Amino acid sequence: MKRISILGSTGSIGTNCLNVIESQQGEFQVNYLTNYKNIQLLFEQAEKFRPNAVAIFENDKVAEYLPRFKKIGVEVYTGFEGILEVSRKEDVDILVNALVGAVGLQPTLNAIRKNVRIALANKETLVIGGRFVMEKARQEGAEIIPIDSEHSALLQCIAGEDSEKIKCVYLTASGGPFREFSSDDFSNVTVEQALNHPNWDMGQKVTIDSATLMNKGLEVIEAHWLFNLKPAEIQVVIHPQSIIHSMVEFADGSIKAQLGVPDMRIPIQYALTYPKRLSADFPRLDFLTLKELTFEQPDFEKFRCLKLSYQALETGGAAPAVLNAANEVAVNLFLTRKIGFEEIPQIVEKALTNCKFNNCDKVEDLLQYDKLTRDYVLNELN
Ligand code: MG
Repeated sequence: MKRISILGSTGSIGTNCLNVIESQQGEFQVNYLTNYKNIQLLFEQAEKFRPNAVAIFENDKVAEYLPRFKKIGVEVYTGFEGILEVSRKEDVDILVNALVGAVGLQPTLNAIRKNVRIALANKETLVIGGRFVMEKARQEGAEIIPIDSEHSALLQCIAGEDSEKIKCVYLTASGGPFREFSSDDFSNVTVEQALNHPNWDMGQKVTIDSATLMNKGLEVIEAHWLFNLKPAEIQVVIHPQSIIHSMVEFADGSIKAQLGVPDMRIPIQYALTYPKRLSADFPRLDFLTLKELTFEQPDFEKFRCLKLSYQALETGGAAPAVLNAANEVAVNLFLTRKIGFEEIPQIVEKALTNCKFNNCDKVEDLLQYDKLTRDYVLNELN
């Protein structure tokens, strides 16, 4: 049995992951769980999966729940320090990092050790610290396996191939809810509209990122680190049906694609069992009811965040960390109705232009740039 730790078990990826684990009796044992806000759901998960310990990020109801966790024999850690504590545990074969945002970087680095697998849903880990994370994983002999559906698709297409023969990859993007909007329409977009994704059911942050196409931009950077690809070798294609999850073109002109219904349990299970496949009763793709598969060029001017992501990747160093931090703050401000939808790319662009990022020889430098960028954005807006 593989011993599993899930950081962010009460979110969309976390609950889907537990769903997969529950459906594969005898394959996995849950040793650690951590939440962000939903303490009641974390308790229910702990009752069902009986981990050794949980880490509770949110603090105000801990006192009320402590005796209940104690009664079922589950140790409790608290705060971000608690999540870091869990990420350092050694009785874990697979650490699922389903945290949202830059906070996911340090736990990933903590968890990297010989023979461990990091099943990575937290793309910020690679966007910010890709160089350090991949380097440490190589040195220690740890695996970084993506959960993100596009990168899972790439991994499945590349399996068994010579990586030297990859000509380019195509990351597919649904285009989000505003694919057919004009730039002028963006100033009227409401939070509710932006949270209404046509194909995928995800957390709020990634849903807004999908609406601005920042999510795809972050995925370009993620693909760069995971598969050692140059920016020009990573193409984005709008594919509104979200059936093809990504494609790889090889030197001989052959293209492999991975297809399936948009259900995150498929890439989650693959990340847990790779390179094996286990049977599952997930919904199946029915070709006969598929009306069409269409493809479009992304509009880099309308969706500036995608363009800015390529720029940050080309610039390198701390630029992706600045891009990500500015976006995290901007998305949060949009969700709390303090700025308009059209301001998200403007804020990111301003941060990339005005924040200096010269030295970044260590992870601490990146975390420092992350903090400086957040301060810069909030100061600018005040
Ligand atoms: Mg994705």
